[in-house]
Amino acid sequence: MASLRAIRCGTLFDGTGAPPIRSAVVVVDGARITAVGPTATTPVPAGAPVLDWSDRFVMPGLVDAHSHISIVPGDGDQIGQLRQEAVPQALRATANLRRDLASGTTTLRVMTEEHFLDVAVRDAIEAGVIPGPRLLCGTRGITSSNGHGRAHSAFDGVEIFATGGVSSPGTTLNASVYSREEIRAAVEEARRAGKYAAAHAHGGPGLRLCVEEGVSTIEHAGLATDDDVALMKEHRAWLICTFSIFMHERGIEQGDGRNPAIMEKLAAARRVIVESFPRHLASGVRYASGTDGVHGAMPFELETLVRFGVSTRDALLSGTRWAAEACRLDSEVGSLGPGKRADLIAIEGDPLADIEALRRVRLVMKDGGVQDVMSNNHGRNG
Ligand SMILES: [Zn+2]
Repeated sequence: MASLRAIRCGTLFDGTGAPPIRSAVVVVDGARITAVGPTATTPVPAGAPVLDWSDRFVMPGLVDAHSHISIVPGDGDQIGQLRQEAVPQALRATANLRRDLASGTTTLRVMTEEHFLDVAVRDAIEAGVIPGPRLLCGTRGITSSNGHGRAHSAFDGVEIFATGGVSSPGTTLNASVYSREEIRAAVEEARRAGKYAAAHAHGGPGLRLCVEEGVSTIEHAGLATDDDVALMKEHRAWLICTFSIFMHERGIEQGDGRNPAIMEKLAAARRVIVESFPRHLASGVRYASGTDGVHGAMPFELETLVRFGVSTRDALLSGTRWAAEACRLDSEVGSLGPGKRADLIAIEGDPLADIEALRRVRLVMKDGGVQDVMSNNHGRNG
C-alpha cells in the first residue's frame, strides 16, 4: 500500500504509561498507526519507506488542553483582542498555530473565540490551507454581561466563566458569577448535546458550585484550596493547569505589565500557585496541561510541573494522554498504538532524564504527514 511507512525510533515513549522502549518501530498507514513495538519484534512491511529517527526520542504529539488561537497575551488586553474584527484575529491565529505546531503541539482545545473563528480555522487546517494543530473547538464561552471573558458574546457554548480572571481588572477570582441553577442548566445542556462542560474557575464558591454540579474540567484553579482540590478529586473533575499565562515572560506580565491592578492580581496568584500547586499535584487529583494562549509554551508548562515536584514521566503524560483524556479525545490521540492517529514528535535528547529536552522538538508528524513548520521555529519554544 502506497501510504504505508515505518519510523525507526531511538527511544519510544508511547504515552500509555509503559516504560520507554530503546530502539522501536512505528508503522503508519495513511493517517493512522498500525503497529508499535521494539525493533526486534515489529517488522517493517516489505517495500515500505523508512523514516530514520533512530537518534531521536519519539513520543505522541502534545495535546494542549486549554488555549486560544487568536490571542497573543504578550500584546496585552486579551479581551480587547477578542473584540477585534475577524480578519486581524485570523491572521494572528495562523502565526500562533504555526508556532504551537512547531513546538510539538498536534492537538489543541480552543477555549472561547469570537466570530466562530476557531471553527473556520479548524476547517482551514483540515483542508490543508494553513498548517496547525488539530483543533477541538469550544466556540463562544458563557460569561455574564459584566464578567471576565466578556467580549462580544455572552450566552452559549460549553465553557463557563464561573469566576473572575487575572487579566481583567475589577473581577474577583473567588466569587461565583453564576447561581447553582445556572451552572446546573449549562452542564445539563452540554450533556444533552453529548458534550461536557468546562469552567474557567480560580477557586472559592464559583469553583465548588461547578464541581458539585458536574463540570468536567476546571480551568486554571489558580486560587484553589486543598479542600477545593479534594472536592475535585472526589467528583473526578480534571484540573487543567495553565502556568504559562501566570509565569511565562510572554504571559500576562509582558502584555499587562504597566497595569498595576492586573499586576497586583498576578503577583498574588503567582505566590499562591508556587505555594499550593506542589500539594495539589501530589493530591491524586487528575490533571492535564494547557498554555492558555502562550503559543509554543507547552515545554514550559511541563517544565513547571517538574519544578513543582512531578516526575518527568507524569509531566509527559500530562501533556499527552492525560490531556487527551480530559478533552475526551483519548481514543484518537495522546498515546501511540494501533488505530490511533499518527501524531508523533521527535526530540533531540531525553526529556525523561531532563525535561528541558522538550524544547528541542526537531520533527513533527500529524495524521501521518511530516509538518513543514520547523524553519519558522526560531528556537524560541521556551
Ligand atoms: Zn483561557
